[in-house]
Parts: sequence; structure tokens; C-alpha cells
Amino acid sequence: MKDKKLEFETLAVHAGQCPDPSTGAIMTPVYLTSTYVQESPGKHKGYEYSRTHNPTRKALEDNLAALEGVNYGLTFASGCAAATTIALLLRSGDHLICSDDVYGGTFRLFDKVLGRNGIEFSFVDLTSEYALKKAIKKNTKMIWVETPTNPLLKIIDLEMVSKMCGSKKILVCVDNTFMSPYFQQPFKWGADIICHSTTKYLNGHSDMVGGAVLVDDQELYEKIHFLQNSMGTQQSTFDAFLVLRSTKTLALRMKAHQENAMVIAKFLEGHKKVERVLYPGLKSHPQHKLALKQMTGFSGIVTFFIKGGLPSARKFLEKVKIFSLAESLGGVESLVEHPAIMTHASVPADKRKALGIDDNLIRISVGIENINDLLADLAQAF
Ligand SMILES: *Cc1c(COP(=O)(O)O)cnc(C)c1O
Repeated sequence: MKDKKLEFETLAVHAGQCPDPSTGAIMTPVYLTSTYVQESPGKHKGYEYSRTHNPTRKALEDNLAALEGVNYGLTFASGCAAATTIALLLRSGDHLICSDDVYGGTFRLFDKVLGRNGIEFSFVDLTSEYALKKAIKKNTKMIWVETPTNPLLKIIDLEMVSKMCGSKKILVCVDNTFMSPYFQQPFKWGADIICHSTTKYLNGHSDMVGGAVLVDDQELYEKIHFLQNSMGTQQSTFDAFLVLRSTKTLALRMKAHQENAMVIAKFLEGHKKVERVLYPGLKSHPQHKLALKQMTGFSGIVTFFIKGGLPSARKFLEKVKIFSLAESLGGVESLVEHPAIMTHASVPADKRKALGIDDNLIRISVGIENINDLLADLAQAF
């Protein structure tokens, strides 16, 4: 559903959904069914088997498509299942260029799994137009962009990447997990495919794992749906229901995440035990201007370097009370983690060092608790 007339908050609540025609139920039911009865062979209501289509999943898919401003949505068992399905648009001998500072699981999938099956991968610093240009080869079929990057929050210029790839028929895929469509709509800047780990902000309550793919082009949608149906990478019905329920409050949650994150970023920037803070909303962020251009906000992830190396980082992480020491991000509760030991352990040590994922780097996912409690917790942990 693409309804340009309605605003984001309205689409978030309504897009893809209508009262149940048989009962009037306002909420889309959880259609826990594997199959659908046909009137006559091949004559059905659009649903045959739930790996292929399911009404609850469809409501979520249409809802997410509307939020990203495109025609088609697909939802997956996880963000990684979504990435696997997209990458398999490529075949053995094709080349994919991926941002170097990418989600650890995506790096592992490309480097250790799909790379072994004949797809070629290059990991490139896509903040550099020159580096991207140099990396493009005759067999390059896709660019994989994550912006802001994880955990260093570098910003990649989506318009620049799309312009360079559009003329060469290279598909641009943007992992929009960190921003959610509330703060960034990659399709506006020319992206062909948008993907999400719905586990994070879109679901926002840390109670399921899922993924989504959004595209505007019908042929591309059909290709990805074919792969999804063939491989069985689709989202479970119940988890689709949880995300559908959550996107209704996405706008409210994102505003709250960002408001708290900005205060925390400024607090950290002024703290004597902090070496450096990375947050796209700070004027000190090296790409603050680009962030203002392509994002409508800065979301809730803040990264900082603590003074005193690993021992000091470890002490801080053991002392936080309201912030939970855990992987993942984007939930209503505040989390804190150590990328080098936790989320990015699958990235080899030498590569982590080259990227700047040092042992004193800490990543925070700022939740929606009261800001005074969050600040007090951080202060006591230092
Ligand atoms: C978590 C995450 C993924 C992977 O998603 P899962 O749902 O954990 O499989 C991909 N990209 C980003 C940016 C993520 O944060």
C-alpha cells in the first residue's frame, strides 16, 4: 500500500489493515493456519499455503512497505534470513560490494557462508566515493550499504551510491535497521532494496526475531518472493503479529529513543572518563552535515571510547544497573555492549583494529526510560 496522502504516524497505525470483514475485529487476527480450503481446484481467495502467503504476514508486509514508501514488502524469519535471501539474487561468479563496517552477522554470512559458494565479496569503506568507484568490477551486481554503520556510526551517502550504481545496473540494497523508516527512507535516495532486522526498532520490544525486505519494483519483488518461498525463509505468523502490533507506536518510540540518546551523547561528550563519542546528532560527528541531509533524525545508538582500555571498559559494563549488558538494540529498554568481545567477535581481530573497533569501545542502545535514571546509572558506573 502506497498512500502518499497520509502521514507517517497514520500509516503506522492503519496501513495494510482493515477491520475483519466477518467479525468486525479491529485488530488483524493471528491466522494460525498452514493451509486454506479451495472451492474448486485452483479456485481460492488468494491463499494456498502459509509458506507462500499468510494474511497476518501480508498485513505486516503492506504496513512496512507503506512506511518505507514503496509498493511491496516481504517478512522473514530473521534479519539474517532476509539478507541471505536477497544475496541469493546473485549467482556464482557475481560480485557484491559491502560496507566494511557492517553488522557482524552480515559479515559472517557473506564471508564465511555465501563466499564459499562462489559469490565474490569485497568489503569497502563506502564513505569514500573513490573507494567505491575503484571497487566496482564488470561482475559487480549489488552494493550492500548499512548506514549509519555498526558500531562506528559512519554515514554513507545514499544518493552518491545510488547515482554511481544506477547507470551500471548494480542493485543498491540498504540495511535500514539502525534508523527505521521513521528517520531514514533509503528509497527516496535511489535504493532498490531496503532490508531490516525487525528484531530491533520495528518490533522494539525485544520479544521476537525477524526480518523484512521492501522493494518498489514488481519484478524484483517477484524474484525475492520466489526465493523466499523456495527456501522457506518467511516470518512465522505469530511473530508477524507482534511486529504489526509494534509498528503502531514506532513514531512515538523513535522520538523517545532519539531524545534520550541526544542527552546521553552530550553527557558522555562532557565526561572526563570518555575519550570520544560518536553520535550522528552531535556537531562533532565528522559527517553531521550528511546526516542532516539524508536522515530526519539520529535514532538511539551511541558509541563511545572509554579511557583506560579494556579493564576500564569491563568495570563500567559490570557496574551498570538499568542498562543491561546484552547484545541487540532497538528495544524500549536500554542496553549496553562491548562490540569487540560481543557483537563483532566474528570479525577477525586485525580487521577490527583496522576499522577502529577498539577494546575500549562501548555501544549503547538508548531505551525510552526516564532520562534522569539513565544518566544517574551511567554516572555511577564511571
Ligand atoms: C541485528 C541486525 C541484523 C541481523 O538481524 P537478525 O534479526 O539478528 O538476524 C542485520 N543488520 C543489522 C544492522 C542488525 O542490527
